Amino acid sequence: MAGATIDKIVSLCKRRGFLFQGSELYGGLQGTWDYGPMGVELKNNVKRLWWRSNVYERDDMEGLDAAILMNRLVLKYSGHEDTFSDPLVDCRKCKKRFPRRPDRRHREVRRGRHARLHRAAPVQPHVPHADDDIAYLRPETAQGIFVNFKNVLDSTNRKLPFGIAQIGKAYRNEITPKNFIFRVREFEQMEIEYFVKPGEDDETHEQWIADRISWYHRYGIKPENLRQHVQAADELAHYAKACTDLLYRFFPEREDEDKQYEEVEGIANRTDFDLTCHTKGGVLRFADGREIPNEHAVMKQTYFDDAAKVHLTPYVIEPSGGVDRITLAFLMDAYEEQTLEGGKQRTVLHLHPELSPVKVAVIPLARNKPEIVAVAKQIKKDLQSTGQLRTMFDDSGNIGKCYARQDEIGTPFCVTVDHQSLEDNEVTIRDRDSMQQERVAIDRLKSYFFERLSL
Ligand code: ATP
Repeated sequence: MAGATIDKIVSLCKRRGFLFQGSELYGGLQGTWDYGPMGVELKNNVKRLWWRSNVYERDDMEGLDAAILMNRLVLKYSGHEDTFSDPLVDCRKCKKRFPRRPDRRHREVRRGRHARLHRAAPVQPHVPHADDDIAYLRPETAQGIFVNFKNVLDSTNRKLPFGIAQIGKAYRNEITPKNFIFRVREFEQMEIEYFVKPGEDDETHEQWIADRISWYHRYGIKPENLRQHVQAADELAHYAKACTDLLYRFFPEREDEDKQYEEVEGIANRTDFDLTCHTKGGVLRFADGREIPNEHAVMKQTYFDDAAKVHLTPYVIEPSGGVDRITLAFLMDAYEEQTLEGGKQRTVLHLHPELSPVKVAVIPLARNKPEIVAVAKQIKKDLQSTGQLRTMFDDSGNIGKCYARQDEIGTPFCVTVDHQSLEDNEVTIRDRDSMQQERVAIDRLKSYFFERLSL
């Protein structure tokens, strides 16, 4: 038995259509990856399960999908713009330096990284804007939530505590994108801003850490591969009261065990920093003591506490994870190379069935026998029509090749239609993990899979 390394995952992902190098046809673009047919299913499942656990299964959450392009003032008053330290950009091809607004021929930019507040990528070409023609690609989705706090509050009549969840793209000019989808320039985040009364923040923070850890376990991450790192005072962002990073074992090949684990998600107590910045008459406070009064916000973003009859600024607990890193963690955790009896090798993804890109593959044993193919296609159609069982018709090779392919995709069940099926209306079902096979009547298939997959 052997486990995963990122290199092994890269090759499986390309081979089976999970991920391809971005713009590969033209030599690629560093720090970008395109999700293929299997990858998009897996990634969508990751997002769906996150949304389901964090929005639908709770009573205290709302969703949001804010625009990527935002008024520049959002990033001014969040403190980000001040940290976009280098107003020049370097063109990697001609090695020349250009002002922050490069023309279309010099799109690839390199800019400095700042320790905690993140770099954003300027939009190229520029988005016309009333005051100035600069807009930034957002470095995190969170700001879209903060600037909509009052809108959500007023439109839903929520009382504290409550949270807002959002999934969306974020962009960072990482100097060295590397390790596959672990560090890229364009990625997706799944973020929650959970608003609480000051004083209730510590307990809520602890609860979110526990909830997020159990979500990873629920969908198959092995407990030994997930660690917590409680940030020390000198690691914390200046506005944060506490932050616990969840680290996944992305680099098992590293000798030093501590270095094997890197961040997959951060869960921070951001105090009232964000809503104090983004409010009419508010103030942005930097680590060095500088202050910028907010002279632009058009409304107050405070909460009226009915019981105490006071306006207060809520504290924020923020669980923030990257979809791509989480997807990579699920892939790595599911990966296994097995040596079977007789020395045969097989590679299998033991994905939680809810994550599997395909739930059932239907394989006709004889590709040239129209009656068998017709039965297989009908089964595929019937299962797919339930809306819950993504089913694939697979006649890509002999049965062994089909099983190998489905194992590497992580398909929990293969259904084989053979000559006997035409006589007895039964098919063979093979279980991905145990490789056990059993005969099941075709008219029982739906209920069989619903039961086995707990749907
Ligand atoms: P790192 O220290 O690894 O750069 P970070 O502390 O800057 O990460 P956060 O700002 O806390 O990351 O972002 C929240 C999450 O977004 C991270 O836990 C990670 O999953 C994801 N993320 C951040 N940067 C990238 C990136 N360049 N590529 C892919 N995912 C990223």
